[in-house]
Amino acid sequence: MTVPARIAQGKKARPRKIERIEAIPRNRNSSTDAEALLLWYDRHRRVLPWRALPGEKPDAYRVWLSEIMLQQTTVKAVAPYFARFSARWSNVGALAQAPLDDVLKLWAGLGYYARARNLHACAKAVVERHGGNFPESEAELGALPGIGPYSAAAIAAIAFGARTAAIDGNGERLLARFFAVEANLPAAKPQIRRLAESLLPAARAGDFAQALMDLGATICTPKKPACALCPWEQTCLARRRGDPETFPRKARKPRGQLRRGAAFVLKRAGNAILLRRRAMDGLLGGMVEVPTTEWTPDFEEANALAHAPHPRCAEPKWRRLPGVVAHVFTHFPLELLVYTATVGADAPAPEGMRWVTIPELAGEALPTVMRKVLAHALPSAAIANGAAGVLMDARGRQRRAK
Ligand code: SF4
Repeated sequence: MTVPARIAQGKKARPRKIERIEAIPRNRNSSTDAEALLLWYDRHRRVLPWRALPGEKPDAYRVWLSEIMLQQTTVKAVAPYFARFSARWSNVGALAQAPLDDVLKLWAGLGYYARARNLHACAKAVVERHGGNFPESEAELGALPGIGPYSAAAIAAIAFGARTAAIDGNGERLLARFFAVEANLPAAKPQIRRLAESLLPAARAGDFAQALMDLGATICTPKKPACALCPWEQTCLARRRGDPETFPRKARKPRGQLRRGAAFVLKRAGNAILLRRRAMDGLLGGMVEVPTTEWTPDFEEANALAHAPHPRCAEPKWRRLPGVVAHVFTHFPLELLVYTATVGADAPAPEGMRWVTIPELAGEALPTVMRKVLAHALPSAAIANGAAGVLMDARGRQRRAK
């Protein structure tokens, strides 16, 4: 069996002898490495909905939209959202004119909701400061809301051909292996960037950035990189050492402390649920939720009902559902107890809250954790993902409460 066939079938590669290589070899030729990567890209580039085809001029709006959506999110998860956003708002001017609430609704389920608010703010800034055209310089792009250093470099390189190193998570892993960078991430980021700059080709900077992304995503994968198929196989230091999977080096992350709380799903006879909007600043800012207690490490179940909503002229009889809804945010895991109650059809919504019929829940800007809560409380209702016809399984992981 050939080596590529062995890898394609997921067979375990024989362990390699580790060579002692402590520095970048003197004979490394950056332009040859860049050429090899671009040749590979010309043959194996991924076809992505936001990516210009060979010979086409990239559309800065589509490049920007995809780069913001792809932050912390996979290509597979982003693709349907990108399709819906670009179909509804085909250019930055149209997006700038949209109500923020519509943007949040279409974003619901994609997570990291500050990105949606910044996306909208950025569209407005491009219209107000730049007449509806994205600026071409990395510095001006980086001054726009929601565009960090990586996104600024990626948009400048891909949309405008700027000769700059745009290194996403996949590229970071790839370069850490290629140069066998011993320093831990994230401290190693500036070093990796300098090393990437040393490889930049004189032309085709956008293709080079996308080639790094594609090679990292498809060949230099976190587990079992397919080195035999890699255009850098001969020069990659981690490959020569025989331990590519040990790169990038990472400091152990402290896991956030578990927070707990209670969520209150109040039904009104006539098929409606009580919802409220979260404050604009902070976690899940501007998104919609059922009322909850605060989420804290020292949550006490005995005090939960003191925070339950209480419509005037109604006496909800709260019942705690078995199990908990678990969700993991970037910085902490969360467990929510879920209480339900039903009130009469004429019960008014408490101040700052509103009734939403169950069929209309699908169109609300509900973050994933709230979809889990509702799926737990209303197991027969499909909580759709904000856009017409696309259903997601929002049932939360459930287990016995302690
Ligand atoms: S040779 Fe292997 S480890 Fe090195 S860059 Fe290529 S896929 Fe990654």
